[in-house]
Amino acid sequence: MNDSWLIKPSFDDVYPVAAYGEGVFIYDEHGNKYLDGSSGAVTASIGHAVPEIVEAVTEQARKISFVYRSQFTSQPAEKLAEKLNDLAFEADDPYYSFFVNSGSEANETALKIAVQYWQEQGMYRKHKIISRWTSYHGITMGALSMSGHTERRKRFAPMLEDYPGISPPYCYRRPAQESCSDYEMKCADELDAAIRRTGAEQVAAFIAEPIIGAAGGVIVPSAEYYKRIKEICDHHQVLFIADEVMTGIGRTGKMFAMEHYGVKPDILTLGKGMSAGYAPIAAALIHDRILEPIRKGSKAIIGGHTYSANPQSSAVALAVLTFIEKHQLVDRSAKNGEYLVNQLRNMALTTPIVGDVRGKGLLIGIEFVSHLFTKTPFPKQLNLTRLLVEKARDKGLLIYPASAGIEGGDGDAIIVSPPLTINKQEMDTLVKLLQDSIHEVQRDLML
Ligand code: PLP
Repeated sequence: MNDSWLIKPSFDDVYPVAAYGEGVFIYDEHGNKYLDGSSGAVTASIGHAVPEIVEAVTEQARKISFVYRSQFTSQPAEKLAEKLNDLAFEADDPYYSFFVNSGSEANETALKIAVQYWQEQGMYRKHKIISRWTSYHGITMGALSMSGHTERRKRFAPMLEDYPGISPPYCYRRPAQESCSDYEMKCADELDAAIRRTGAEQVAAFIAEPIIGAAGGVIVPSAEYYKRIKEICDHHQVLFIADEVMTGIGRTGKMFAMEHYGVKPDILTLGKGMSAGYAPIAAALIHDRILEPIRKGSKAIIGGHTYSANPQSSAVALAVLTFIEKHQLVDRSAKNGEYLVNQLRNMALTTPIVGDVRGKGLLIGIEFVSHLFTKTPFPKQLNLTRLLVEKARDKGLLIYPASAGIEGGDGDAIIVSPPLTINKQEMDTLVKLLQDSIHEVQRDLML
């Protein structure tokens, strides 16, 4: 007999019932306290139950919560789009916002806009999107077609587009004789080869997470890598879509992760941290240059949803951005990230199954291996990531399960990505709880 009518991600799992949150903590109905070491799914980036956001929710609800996007626009949606343009790179290089409800929809929208951009110019065959084998762009069919997530793809494979893929710049697992920079350039040049093989006349865009998140356990490429990628895209007339659903809005110590690389994407997608979990909203930010032929041509973007540009969600996202700016959380993410990554590297000295600790700002990945020097992953059936996540949860720490991207993501990794508001004492508690969890799992498995 089911004890609940709610369908959960896994029928086997029993989840605690969240009662309320406060700052970086979540409390369940029995009063147990959890340190949110991952901001949920890298989302709750300003912490829980922030009074300013609660205020913004009520204020907007008193005015109006819903208008239909084909009948009205609204002040919060207009202001939010203006704010995102102000934040995106240089002010004289405008990006326009198209609002949707989830990261998957944002990437789905980006795909369609890229195809439409070429169609408006008579290039009807440009409809393929190249992505990386190790990537996650979402669960809807278009987004899944662009994703390299073997587990999520395999059941639906016959229904997915067979888009070309290239290798991720995954330096930790490069061939021993190659330098990281040579390896990254080789990975970037795979894009050139893939476009030539497919035929540039068929390729609409290349999509990439600036820093690969859940599919690769946080893989951070160098600036040279993205400079080369952009050169290749420009050379072949292929658009560059940056999927910043996980990395955007301060998570990596810059407002947008592409700022680390000095490369401006043609389309940039956002989700998760955009409303910090207070309302479902996501966006595709489209460069003016890409909209130009659409404005002159069919004059409309073919897409959108009933809840697109929802005033309630827009007001929340606007309040979140105001909060982030007021409390300088982007800088804080960079500083806190530096401290936390160092503490986690120190922790790794006592936890021999930690192979690598890597990240930018407060997006940090930890990859686990059974042998430090050979970097051999644990057997898949051991389910180490799950054991670690459950052990940590029992100790009152929430961490995000990821995969390590080896042969379709079979390796073990976790993401540590607490709210950007976390303080030093809370970070120390996080590291201690994680260290204890890893030690206990090592002991249980006699590793
Ligand atoms: N893109 C990236 C990089 C993500 O990490 C995710 C979600 O984890 C998505 C897209 C999909 O976003 P959503 O789950 O909101 O549909």
